[in-house]
Amino acid sequence: MNAPILVINCGSSSIKYALIDSDPNAPRLAGIAERLGSTEAHLKGSNSCGESFQQSLSGADHAQALHAIFARLEERSPAAIGHRVVHGGEHFTQAALIDASVIDAIETTAALAPLHNPANLAGIAATRALFPYLPQVAVFDTAFHQTLPPQAYRYALPEALYTQHGIRRYGFHGTSHAFVSQRAGEISERGNGGWLVAHLGNGCSTSAVWHNQSLDTSMGLTPLEGVAMGTRSGDVDPGLHAHLHRQLGWSLDDIDRVLNKESGLYGLSGLTNDMREIEAAADEGHAGARLAFDVFCYRVAKSLAALSCALPTFDGVLLTGGIGENSFQVRKRVIHLLPHFGLALDDDKNTATRSGREGRIDAGNGPEVWVIPTDEEGRIAAETRQCLETHA
Ligand code: AMP
Repeated sequence: MNAPILVINCGSSSIKYALIDSDPNAPRLAGIAERLGSTEAHLKGSNSCGESFQQSLSGADHAQALHAIFARLEERSPAAIGHRVVHGGEHFTQAALIDASVIDAIETTAALAPLHNPANLAGIAATRALFPYLPQVAVFDTAFHQTLPPQAYRYALPEALYTQHGIRRYGFHGTSHAFVSQRAGEISERGNGGWLVAHLGNGCSTSAVWHNQSLDTSMGLTPLEGVAMGTRSGDVDPGLHAHLHRQLGWSLDDIDRVLNKESGLYGLSGLTNDMREIEAAADEGHAGARLAFDVFCYRVAKSLAALSCALPTFDGVLLTGGIGENSFQVRKRVIHLLPHFGLALDDDKNTATRSGREGRIDAGNGPEVWVIPTDEEGRIAAETRQCLETHA
């Protein structure tokens, strides 16, 4: 199958797209329709020559935006559409060809991801209505982590909360953790060994991957658990919720908003959720930015150290995401905080590796440290192809 795959990532007011050839390194048509449903709705992206464009879609809804996206595909008909779906619950251990029963199962898990799954479903409904002749595949953020053993995925809570309500740890960013660990297997002499993976972007998560299987990960029931992120708190004392409610009278919505949107780098620094700005302000002596940087790096290192318990063997650390791929300062601090693992960086290689470059940055005497730019769209396209081949 040589025709490209159209990858769609549908949010409540945005649609990201990318047209991906069977050669994942071929130039890509890609872009985003944003602020859908408002007068400021627009589509921006780049064409196959790498030229960027912007088009007003004033008042457009998801279906109208998808029409505009198709008009930008330069008459290259996709073989299928691969949809990113955030939560697959326990139903999905791999990508699924979309039919009525798959849609039912995604609807069932919507209670676990009320902000994301309904938007993903709206995107699927719109593309199915517009392009009924195209096969559509759902690729789940949670699927890669379905290999976690019970000791890693169960919370220490009454069993009925798991058996009757699905309360367990699921993990997210699965396509990124899968892509990066598989890539390490291709480029490291150690192959598919035991890797600690840190996906550090606006959202951040860590995982322990052994022989291409996720054995533990930092995110849980929702993408709020784990390390500190751009605006998300990561782990807090579960007693915090009751305390804030009783002492400050905060509602659940207040608490949810603060932990998801007003915490992390942003909350600690009082400035910004953007690591570049945190680093610049910290260099100028801003106390909040320094604290945000320190907490962020310490929590990533602590999470990696904790996840090492899941690995039967340890071959090294893989860093990805906007921060992992670009910030040599974060990489330096995180690795420095893991002295018992025998890790050491080559400072020159660390400083030089950024802007989408892949490279090994350790000093060469111990476990390896790699920077591997993630490619979630490429992985979604690959899983979509694989799913179609299985059903051919
Ligand atoms: P992502 O969500 O993967 O796009 O990552 C976004 C994060 O990457 C933001 O916090 C950015 O500030 C951060 N980032 C991107 N480039 C750099 C850079 N050169 N140095 C530090 N952080 C960066």
